[in-house]
Amino acid sequence: MLSPTYFLPKEKFPDFLSALKGLGQVFAPVKVSQQSYSFKAVEKASEIAFEALRTILPPKKFFYPQSETLVKFEDGEIKECIEEPQFKVIFGVHPCDLAGLGIMDTIFEDSPGDTHYLRKRRTSMIIGLSCMPDKHCFCQSMGTDCPEKGYDVFLTDIEDGYFIEGKSSQGQKLLADAFTNKVLERAREAHKDRYKRFWLDRSEAFETGFKVDNLRSTMDLEWENPVWEELGDRCLSCGNCTPVCPTCYCFDLVDVAALSSKEDGSGDAERRREWDSCQFVGFAKVAGDYNFRPGPVDRLKFWYRHKLHGFDDAYGFKTCVGCGRCTVSCPSGIDDIVKVVNILQAAREKKDEGQPK
Ligand code: SF4
Ligand code: SF4
Repeated sequence: MLSPTYFLPKEKFPDFLSALKGLGQVFAPVKVSQQSYSFKAVEKASEIAFEALRTILPPKKFFYPQSETLVKFEDGEIKECIEEPQFKVIFGVHPCDLAGLGIMDTIFEDSPGDTHYLRKRRTSMIIGLSCMPDKHCFCQSMGTDCPEKGYDVFLTDIEDGYFIEGKSSQGQKLLADAFTNKVLERAREAHKDRYKRFWLDRSEAFETGFKVDNLRSTMDLEWENPVWEELGDRCLSCGNCTPVCPTCYCFDLVDVAALSSKEDGSGDAERRREWDSCQFVGFAKVAGDYNFRPGPVDRLKFWYRHKLHGFDDAYGFKTCVGCGRCTVSCPSGIDDIVKVVNILQAAREKKDEGQPK
């Protein structure tokens, strides 16, 4: 049976927000500078930047924090640090970031499962929100432009209100309660028509993209394409492109010992998990000072491969969701996946044309 759909008039949004706040602390995109947005705790609807397209960091930061203590050595004992998370509602997550969360869920749920991530993720509610693409968005190419998983409720902006769908049982319960409390109305035919029109208009609004069907073979065949050397020459190895990516999860384990040891020579210490980046020079360095990916070009190629087809065999999906964050945050202006893929595909097509039929 299809779940009921609802309409939320915009003037009723503060009541909807109150219902969300009744579940837990609400986080939403907030404007933090002239051009940037960040997910922050909000109390009032006026604090929410509904126009925000991409936040500086994706919502992975709530479940997989930048630095997290896993184990403590205290009073001569090793103690695992499993946090008791508070329920969080993350509002305003766009389709690419929902797909990113779905990918992170699959990876962190993979046996034996990551307790630290999963406990936080299972005490949360994700409210998706529709958006219109800008010149850097290419989620349509990656097949992540329509919400499929990673959320509880999704709101589509249909001018004077939101068309609302519930996905999970906790999302459907929230909507049923809000309907009972007269915050929501049942969606009528006119709302459904505007909903369909919105998604059609949106699918025609994409300005950039590429074909994904031959990505794997293109990447393999163009592994020595000169574009890689050009990019490598300009890459600063700053690592900006990885923390901003909704699906990058590489980490380092850092042991921190307290400076003040006790009289008997023992001291407290902790082991932390901290975000790392495959773009850093030391990432692939091993014992004996050997580096598997010594130059920026080696690291960039590795990253592109990971994003565009490295997960095909193991999981059956690509880990780029087309959000465009890496493009806008690269200080060298080089991390434009669409441009690079277009160059590689054009080179491949040229070679294909020269092949005997
Ligand atoms: S690789 Fe770039 S465009 Fe793709 S999901 Fe990561 S940050 Fe977004
Ligand atoms: S953000 Fe740009 S310059 Fe920095 S590591 Fe990534 S590709 Fe290189």
